[in-house]
Amino acid sequence: MLLVCAMNILLVEDDKLLADGIISAMKREHFSVNHVVDGTEALTHLKTVPPDILILDLGLPGMDGMDVLKRMRKQGLSTPVIILTARDMLDEKIAGLNSGADDYITKPFELKELIARIRVLERRISNSALNEIVIGEVSLDTMSSQVMVKQKSSQLSRREYMLLKALMENAGSILTKSNLESKLYDWGEEIASNAIEVHIHNLRKKLPDAYIHTVHGMGYIIKKQ
Ligand code: CA
Repeated sequence: MLLVCAMNILLVEDDKLLADGIISAMKREHFSVNHVVDGTEALTHLKTVPPDILILDLGLPGMDGMDVLKRMRKQGLSTPVIILTARDMLDEKIAGLNSGADDYITKPFELKELIARIRVLERRISNSALNEIVIGEVSLDTMSSQVMVKQKSSQLSRREYMLLKALMENAGSILTKSNLESKLYDWGEEIASNAIEVHIHNLRKKLPDAYIHTVHGMGYIIKKQ
């Protein structure tokens, strides 16, 4: 099984206004998003904090998006990529797809279209055609951020949702506190030292007893069932 945690997106876009719009839309969808404005920074970021999906503008200052794509694929980085391009020429799109992009979207676009395409990729990555993750008697709806336990549904906060999603998608594996922090918080965001413990505590109230196990000195795990 492919291990994918709560969606972590890297946005490479030098147009500040567009980037701000995309970032707000992603946050509303409970994605964790990091943003860089040029190709060199993007490559560094890809290697140090690999995202689940890369949204890549082609027209960037310095190294352009197509170069970033070619270089990352050459370096064996397999992160799924959605290309953003103002150049709606067919040749550009074909070149992008041939260089290893998974999808492209032509500017100007509706944010909801971008979100829909991210969802398609997300489902592909999660290897699931449903917007639902089920383990044991718990099912998590990834569209509404609701968790259902024995016919009873509870709404999760953004962080609770991301935390539970990460643990469920990695069921059978221990996730350390720092694994979880990197999935729940953006790059550089301040994190209280007990933040994960607090979210786990609140999340447990909405789950069956002992659903999330604490592995002392290591982290947390949801067992495969
Ligand atoms: Ca641009």
